Amino acid sequence: MSERRNAAALARAFRLHVAQTSTAPLGLAIASARGAWITDTKGRRYLDLLAGMGVVNLGHGNPAVIRACQTQLRIHLHVMVYGEYVFETQVRLATRLAALAGPPFESCYFTNSGTEAIEGALKTARKFTGRSGLVGFALGFHGDTFGALSVGGNPVYRDPFLPLLPHATILPWQDEAALRAIDRRTAAVVIEPVQAEGGVRIADPAFLRILRARCREVGALLIFDEVVTGLGRTGTLFGFQQSGVRPDILVLAKALGGGLPLGAFLASRKILSTLTRNPPLAHVTTFGGHPLSCAAALAALEETVTRDIPARAAKSGALLLAGLQSLAARHRIVRAVRGAGMLLAIELATPNATRKFAAGCLARGIIVNWTLHRDTVIRMAPPLTLTRAEITLALATMDEVLGTL
Ligand code: PLP
Repeated sequence: MSERRNAAALARAFRLHVAQTSTAPLGLAIASARGAWITDTKGRRYLDLLAGMGVVNLGHGNPAVIRACQTQLRIHLHVMVYGEYVFETQVRLATRLAALAGPPFESCYFTNSGTEAIEGALKTARKFTGRSGLVGFALGFHGDTFGALSVGGNPVYRDPFLPLLPHATILPWQDEAALRAIDRRTAAVVIEPVQAEGGVRIADPAFLRILRARCREVGALLIFDEVVTGLGRTGTLFGFQQSGVRPDILVLAKALGGGLPLGAFLASRKILSTLTRNPPLAHVTTFGGHPLSCAAALAALEETVTRDIPARAAKSGALLLAGLQSLAARHRIVRAVRGAGMLLAIELATPNATRKFAAGCLARGIIVNWTLHRDTVIRMAPPLTLTRAEITLALATMDEVLGTL
């Protein structure tokens, strides 16, 4: 009884004192999380097909990540603002990322989050090129700070905060002719290789190649926002490896920290060194690249590489996609399914259907939701370590829920 009262009090305090942004938060009261499973305080287990929005690539509570955190906790936590002291986990992480990403990504600036990494990348591009123009794409999402929002592609979320950055242009998605708007006034163009919140829209490699060529022609920097697609999610360690198109600046976050907050933007030393002059300390952060986050990130990265998690994501993603395709063939409410590795979508006929589908899945112990900018699209970004049995369970449950719509 007192446990029930505690749970009710906690739920009430959550609504009253934790600032609410959703009108209908999922509201699960979390007791623990392991692998692909979350257990709530009532002891109910849920198969997590969101992985904290594409963060928990290795599953909840990965032992190597936990061990690395415990070791780092005993050594030191915050000792100085970013970029002043040498500490091993940060240096090793930057070195490893540069080696794995390859040229031109020699150097790495660490932040606390994805949106901060985007801000840093935009500032770097403006300062390096001496230009002000910024370009994003319709339904692109890069975070919610002012700069990131300025290149975000949904007016519904931009308009309440106007005026945003000047000289920011949003181009239609995958419209080759529209790329003429990228010109010698453009400092940077930002694109997600797969738009996540935009409804899991996969950029055509041919379009990315044309975009790369246009940026090179006019001297604009190309920024890939791989906050979601990075670290194995789409079946390769970095999304850009699939198109072969290398951006000038690569932005990572979400899964990078192995479950701890960490973002990064990588580029050549020539580009990033613009932050050290006129004035020196042109972009600083207190907590960016925190020792604990870097320790977790390094352990997660080693696990990802040594267990070839990207290949596993490609294989499991193909299995999941094939299952979704057969669901689409059997249920007329499904308009389309698509996926890139373990970033997948089911597009339904109406927003009402997506809401009912997500609620039906949750009631049966499966966590999914719809994307921010496309409310007819159910997104899945499960742990990349999902087992075959978990995939079978997820598909059977979704089949049952689709049958109720
Ligand atoms: N970029 C993309 C593609 C995202 O999906 C997000 C967040 O969902 C961000 C940037 C912002 O990252 P963060 O929430 O860590 O600031």
